[in-house]
Amino acid sequence: MPVVHSFGPVAGRSPVPPPRVASDTSAAARKYGVVAMPSLEWNEQVARETAHLYERVKNVIPSVEWPFFAPYVKAINALKAERNAVILAHNYQTPEIYNCVADFVGDSLQLAREATKVDADVIVQCGVHFMAETSKILNPDKTVLIPDSRAGCSLASSITGEDVRLLRRKFPGVPVVAYVNTSADVKAEVDICCTSSNAVQVVESLGADTVIFVPDQYLANYVAGHTNVKIIAWKGACEVHERFTAAELRQYRADDPAIQIIAHPECPPDVIEEADFTGSTAHMIDWVREKRPKRVVMVTECSMADNVQAELPEVEFVRPCNLCPHMKRITLPKILDSLVYMKEEVVIDAAIAEKARRSVERMVNLKR
Ligand code: SF4
Repeated sequence: MPVVHSFGPVAGRSPVPPPRVASDTSAAARKYGVVAMPSLEWNEQVARETAHLYERVKNVIPSVEWPFFAPYVKAINALKAERNAVILAHNYQTPEIYNCVADFVGDSLQLAREATKVDADVIVQCGVHFMAETSKILNPDKTVLIPDSRAGCSLASSITGEDVRLLRRKFPGVPVVAYVNTSADVKAEVDICCTSSNAVQVVESLGADTVIFVPDQYLANYVAGHTNVKIIAWKGACEVHERFTAAELRQYRADDPAIQIIAHPECPPDVIEEADFTGSTAHMIDWVREKRPKRVVMVTECSMADNVQAELPEVEFVRPCNLCPHMKRITLPKILDSLVYMKEEVVIDAAIAEKARRSVERMVNLKR
C-alpha cells in the first residue's frame, strides 16, 4: 500500500539545534582523571603485539599503512582496559576501528541491545551522535563519549520534537514510530522507535490501522509496501542512500548479469526495485555470509563492504563508494583522544531522556 500522506519541515521553523555534549568538558575528566598520551611510535614490539589484529584486516588494509594504525590500536586497547571502557562501533565504521578496537559491532538495533548489557563504566560510541544518545538514554548512569560530536546525520537533523507535536495535533490519536536515526528530543515525543531491521514488526505491533512514521520517507515507503497499516510519512532522507540510482544498478547488471545486488531500505524505491535483496545492514551482512555470492554490490555506505570483505576474502565486492561524511569523522586518533582526555561526553536533559527511554526500551523489548 503506498504512503497515504507525507509531510516535511514547516517553512521558517527554527533550525534543528546541534547535538549536545557536556558544556563542562572537564566533568568526565575530573571524575576519571586525564592520563598521559601513550607513545605512538611504530617499532618491532608494536608490530608483534598487533600482528593478530592485522591478520583480521590484511585483505583491506595494505601492509604499508599498518605502521600508522598499529600504535593507535595498541594504545586504544590498553586504555580501554585501564578505563573500564567498551567501544560500540557501527557497521559503517572503517575496518581498523570495526575489526581492531571495537568490542561490539552491528547495526543500530544490535548496538542498542548491546548498550543495555554493557557492564563497563565508560562507553565510547564509534558512530554518529544519535547512536551515542541512544546509548546514554539506555545507560543514564554511565559515561558515554563520542570521539567527534559533530558526527551528525541528515535524517536526525530533518525533524525536531516540535515537528512531532505538530503531527500529533494534525492526526490526533494516531501513534508515531520514529526510526532510531532521530535526536533524543524526537524519541521523547513518539510512541516507539524502530530500526531498519524491525520497522515492519514495530509498525504492526501497535495494532493501529494508521501510523505516523518519521523521519525517513524511503524507509516509510518500504514499510508501507510490506504491511496493510496505512503510513503517514515524513520527508527526511539519508544523504548517502538517496544518492544511489536505479540506472547505475542496471549498468552493473548489464556489465555482469550474474552479479548480486543487495540494498538498504533507506534507498529510493526505484533503487530497491532493482535489488535482489533488501535489508538492514545486519541483514545484508548475514545475507552475504549465507549466500557467499561470487560478486556482490552492497548498496549502502561504502565502509561496510570493506568490513565484510575482511571476513570473506573470496567474495568480490563491487563498491559504489558513497561514504557517510558523519561516520567518517570518527578516527583512531579521535578515539584515543576520547580515552586520554575523557571527551566528548554526551549529555541529555533528564526529563527528555526518561521519555525517550520509554520509546527505545519498547522497541528493544519487542519479541524478535
Ligand atoms: S549513512 Fe545516512 S542515515 Fe547513516 S548516519 Fe550517515 S547520513 Fe545518517
